[in-house]
Amino acid sequence: MRALIKGEAAEGLWLENVPQPEIGINDVLIRVRKTGICGTDLHIYGWDTWAQETIPVPMVVGHEFVGEVVAFGSNVSDFQVGDLVSGEGHVVCGRCRNCMAGRRHLCAHSIGLGVQRPGAFAEYVALPMTNVWHHWPGIDEEVASIFDPFGNAVHTALSFSVLGEDVLVTGAGPIGCMATAIVRHAGARHVVVTDVNGYRLELARRMGATLAIDPHEHDFADVQRELGMTEGFDIGLEMSGNADALRGMIVNMAHGGRIALLGIPTGEIALDLNPIIFNMLTVKGIYGREMYETWYQMTVMLQSGLDIRPVITHRFSHRDFEAAFAVARSGQSGKVILD
Ligand code: NAD
Ligand code: ZN
Repeated sequence: MRALIKGEAAEGLWLENVPQPEIGINDVLIRVRKTGICGTDLHIYGWDTWAQETIPVPMVVGHEFVGEVVAFGSNVSDFQVGDLVSGEGHVVCGRCRNCMAGRRHLCAHSIGLGVQRPGAFAEYVALPMTNVWHHWPGIDEEVASIFDPFGNAVHTALSFSVLGEDVLVTGAGPIGCMATAIVRHAGARHVVVTDVNGYRLELARRMGATLAIDPHEHDFADVQRELGMTEGFDIGLEMSGNADALRGMIVNMAHGGRIALLGIPTGEIALDLNPIIFNMLTVKGIYGREMYETWYQMTVMLQSGLDIRPVITHRFSHRDFEAAFAVARSGQSGKVILD
């Protein structure tokens, strides 16, 4: 089959022929229709330190996808050939304390699709049946192809109740933009989004931001005054991984405010803990998606009118992956889809 692989320990990806994945008795074989390019894929393409330490070569990359079931193992009973599905990219151990208690997203031994096991930028991908999510008939296939990052956004955005609350989202990348639409859908009052990239601020406005601002050009005090806010943000969603963004968030939270951290910093961050302590802030780290409550929430929010389609700004054939990766890297894009 054709697949985009990390073929050697160097920058780049290669479109090559590789063996089709084999399936065991508990696995589902899926013919991939559409995939999304994630920041992780950009790291793997660029072959930075993290990628060099994490990715065994050769490796089929990619983990955001939608496809159709073409075969399944003899233990699998609830999938049929032709079903439209996506995959949860964290394959958990099933035996640790958290897995046994049904908290699979907290598994300490999870294996990443397209990172540590052959991924979805390929004609076929295989996953255990417990990692396969059924889509409802009629779902927009492009939206279905980005359930993985959509799930990161939902997991973070719904970590704390946002009904009637004022929300600060730092980082208007694809995930920050989706989170903006989600907290709007979930009943937030004001959603202020920050980014240093004008293209993405515009995208955040299209996704429902009350205000989308460059933190270097606007003062948070002015923003709050303009919106009639008096006590700071109730909820913070950190989606940039940037130290200044996090520091700015912490000092602009209301007392008792709650912060969810999704953005991954490139190194250590020095923080003044005093406002966290004296203002009694809650800070929660977020990784991946809850299995499978987040997937359920994504599905029902789409069915109840949430529209994340504006975040998809570019579509390419897999043959033009170089152009797709270039636009994803440029920052002048939302979500980039490979057919
Ligand atoms: P992205 O890199 O496309 O978006 C990050 C945005 O932050 C960019 O638009 C950038 O311009 C902006 N930014 C940079 N400096 C800023 C500043 N000072 N203030 C405000 N914004 C600033 O990433 P994405 O795909 O949208 O993902 C968001 C973050 O979540 C990334 O850090 C990513 O690595 C991380 N992530 C975490 C998980 C997880 O499970 N924890 C999963 C997926 C992605
Ligand atoms: Zn486990």
